[in-house]
Amino acid sequence: MSAVLVINSGSSSFKYQLIDMATETELASGLVERIGEASGHARHNAAGADRVEQTLPIPDHTAGFAVMLATFAASGPQLSTANLVAVGHRVVQGGSIFQGPTVIDDEVLAQISALSDLAPLHNPAHVQGINAARAQFPDVPHVAVFDTSFHQTMPAPAYTYAINTALAAEYSIRRYGAHGSSHKFVSEAVAEFLGRPLAELKTIVLHLGNGASACAVDGGVSIDTSMGLTPLQGLVMGTRSGDIDPAVLFHLHRKAGMSIEELDTLLNKQSGMLGLTGNGDMRDVEDAAVAGDAVAQAALDVYYHRIRGYVGNYIAQLGGLDVIVFTAGIGENSGIVRAGALAGLEFLGIEIDPAKNDPFSRVARVISTDDSKVTVLVIPTNEELEIARQTLETIKAA
Ligand code: ADP
Repeated sequence: MSAVLVINSGSSSFKYQLIDMATETELASGLVERIGEASGHARHNAAGADRVEQTLPIPDHTAGFAVMLATFAASGPQLSTANLVAVGHRVVQGGSIFQGPTVIDDEVLAQISALSDLAPLHNPAHVQGINAARAQFPDVPHVAVFDTSFHQTMPAPAYTYAINTALAAEYSIRRYGAHGSSHKFVSEAVAEFLGRPLAELKTIVLHLGNGASACAVDGGVSIDTSMGLTPLQGLVMGTRSGDIDPAVLFHLHRKAGMSIEELDTLLNKQSGMLGLTGNGDMRDVEDAAVAGDAVAQAALDVYYHRIRGYVGNYIAQLGGLDVIVFTAGIGENSGIVRAGALAGLEFLGIEIDPAKNDPFSRVARVISTDDSKVTVLVIPTNEELEIARQTLETIKAA
């Protein structure tokens, strides 16, 4: 047996998952949160055991990792017998530097830190988490797996913004995309599920969670994606606006006197479904729309309109289409959203079968009709497993 520990650290929390790589199954997972607050919280789920909850002060990430280690020791599984071979870290922004997963040393850590300008909320938190994890696990390699690197294959016309090239180069302004681990995992799972060679599939992945992005995948390679310099661009999200005319910002600055900070907060935290309905949680919006709330229905219509636009765009960019696949919290669970987003696309050979789409299920499945030219799938994503796979491949190749 060999195991990989996957870490996803935020500024005041981190999630972890221990994965047995022979069977690709979860041995344990957990969350350490409210780091730095008066009272912290830790949750640990070991396979086949009761959940362990603890409330205690956790002053910093290093203390958080000590809590995690103590919980593994007390509640299992024992890390000493799990044969931990590596720790894999999710890192949101790898810029143009990191084309793939990378073994972390001091120089790599400094580069991740230097990319904080492009991901101010994420990369500094990852650096904290990596430092703490390296201190607790000094004897195994640590690997950074970047959300952006799957999209490094995008051709220049797809990633280039039409602004002054010198300015763009000086400030590293281009489309980087995000959700790369999910888009990679799901597009590969499509080929496996259909029993077809990945190289011959043209696929649109719709990752619809609180954050949402679309990706055009040609033969396993990302050729376009909806997120941009940051995860703000593209689809309508829980609290993010997605695409918007940048002139809206100049207008609000000049006419409403809003500052850059206020505009940042407005577009990232107070927009999307939250801005349109007052509620950023898709379940609530859906329930309201089903109960006849016109505001909620109008917001869903905006949400669908945006997705449909990207589907049309990516069919053109791919020069055809074999598969559309839905994933993440909304994509996996909401038949209403899946049907709404693809309604009216029958003329493109995209036909959802309500009898397959409506029932709730947790497994990979086809939801298109037998006659649909494009196969529409739902495939649960597993970003942690993808990070663990890439981590293992990277240390094997090192
Ligand atoms: P993230 O990882 O980006 O935080 P998730 O992929 O967990 O997000 O997705 C969270 C979203 O999924 C929430 O908006 C939630 O309302 C939505 N969701 C979960 N279950 C359902 C459901 N049954 N129907 C509609 N939306 C759902």
